[in-house]
Amino acid sequence: MQSTSGGPRVFQFETFFKERDRAMKKHMVVIGGGITGVTSAYALIQQGFEVTLIEKNRYPGMETSYANGGQLSASNAEVWTHPSTLIKGIKWMFKNDAPLLMNPTPTWHKLSWMAEFIAAIPKYRDNTVATAQLAIASREHHFAWAEAEGIEFDHKRKGILHFYRDKKGFDHAAQVSKLLARGGLPRRAVTPDEIKAIEPTLHGQFYGGYFTESDSTGDIHKFTYGLAKACERLGVKFLNEHEVLSVGANGQSAFVQVKHAGDTDSLTFDGIVVCAGVHGRRLAAQLGDRLNIYPVKGYSITVNLPDGASQAAAPEVSLLDDETKLVTSRLGVDRFRVAGTAEYNGINLDIRADRIQPLIQWVNQCFPGIDTRKVVPWAGLRPMMPNMLPRVGQGKKANVFYNTGHGHLGWTLSAITAHQLAGHVMAWAQETQTSVSGRTALQQA
Ligand SMILES: Cc1cc2nc3c(=O)[nH]c(=O)nc-3n(C[C@H](O)[C@H](O)[C@H](O)COP(=O)(O)OP(=O)(O)OC[C@H]3O[C@@H](n4cnc5c(N)ncnc54)[C@H](O)[C@@H]3O)c2cc1C
Repeated sequence: MQSTSGGPRVFQFETFFKERDRAMKKHMVVIGGGITGVTSAYALIQQGFEVTLIEKNRYPGMETSYANGGQLSASNAEVWTHPSTLIKGIKWMFKNDAPLLMNPTPTWHKLSWMAEFIAAIPKYRDNTVATAQLAIASREHHFAWAEAEGIEFDHKRKGILHFYRDKKGFDHAAQVSKLLARGGLPRRAVTPDEIKAIEPTLHGQFYGGYFTESDSTGDIHKFTYGLAKACERLGVKFLNEHEVLSVGANGQSAFVQVKHAGDTDSLTFDGIVVCAGVHGRRLAAQLGDRLNIYPVKGYSITVNLPDGASQAAAPEVSLLDDETKLVTSRLGVDRFRVAGTAEYNGINLDIRADRIQPLIQWVNQCFPGIDTRKVVPWAGLRPMMPNMLPRVGQGKKANVFYNTGHGHLGWTLSAITAHQLAGHVMAWAQETQTSVSGRTALQQA
């Protein structure tokens, strides 16, 4: 090697490692502080990235990751892209208390999403198997992270019981069980007597059920908030109450314009991860990517169990009622969550009384001993892709990444997709490192 001064050239190890470390220690911005954003931030900081998370609310986990069904449910991995969903959708179209409701007013977004949903029907089996695999893989990360960070989230490992009121539903579940088994999830068929034995508080006549012992439940908001605190301790910078107005990227840098306390600011990072729930579609378009996420609204009620009698009358085992498509979770001693319904009506968080009332009636019928005077209603928007699979990975620009579109299973899948996302970002950082190392070596020569 020759130096410019003409003397012998010494390879600059210090410069080389500084350049390499700079390349490795990329500063990533995560947009969105729901379950997908916070788990992404956690997985990234664990890999040694510098991370800033931007969230428009005052606290993390305040939108869809606030009061969902609570199920960490590999057994609910069946994607909805089945012909029967379309038939039911048409049948229920004008019934206000139906589990699935469609605002018939056409919009380009809704129509294009529906067309892609129908196009994904031939992949129903493969996508169900893939989702089951992801859900199983997610568990170990969820549980390990909660333990490592001491997060209390009303976790209950008592299994999930699906029950069916007729032979048709039960027979379909037998087919789903085969797909779940292909994905690695065993579950067993149970008789009506066994249903009563598994969950004695449940009232009603049932045809049969399927029980998945390995599934569990927990409070998504408590987990998201607890993991966000852990992220903070590890060095993630949180910009709460900052609304992202626009984003851009050129492959080397990512640009974010934010609004905070009436002021706007422009921030620059090395790379960007979009975890913005139902708002991801708009941000992806600004970054040059198409992400056809549709907001599929759902409702929940959290029944406060005020006394010993109500607490004894509420189920401990998590349930899924196939006919009404409602799921339940027992959160601690004194809360019982019931969630479900799917409404295609754009970005709209109105809580409709005629959609909440059937949930309360369901509790009164199935659990007559519960006092339902204190019920907290909630609505959330599932960020749903037409094929029902989350979008995890790189965008068209090398420094743009997505971990979003988890639909009805974001709580269940979030830990594994965050882990996958960190792998994608690491691969990109290493690629950049290789080119920086090559460049540095050339500069030294
Ligand atoms: C009724 C119901 C029941 C459900 N039950 C279950 C269940 O039992 N099990 C399960 O696994 N899943 C369930 N889900 C799905 C799960 O809740 C979602 O998939 C998950 O919460 C989505 O998380 P997210 O991080 O993608 O979105 P969010 O939690 O919505 O997070 C996105 C965040 O991005 C922020 N953001 C967006 N745009 C901007 C911007 N411009 N600037 C700054 N911040 C921005 C938002 O404020 C928000 O905090 C249910 C969903 C619903 C609605």
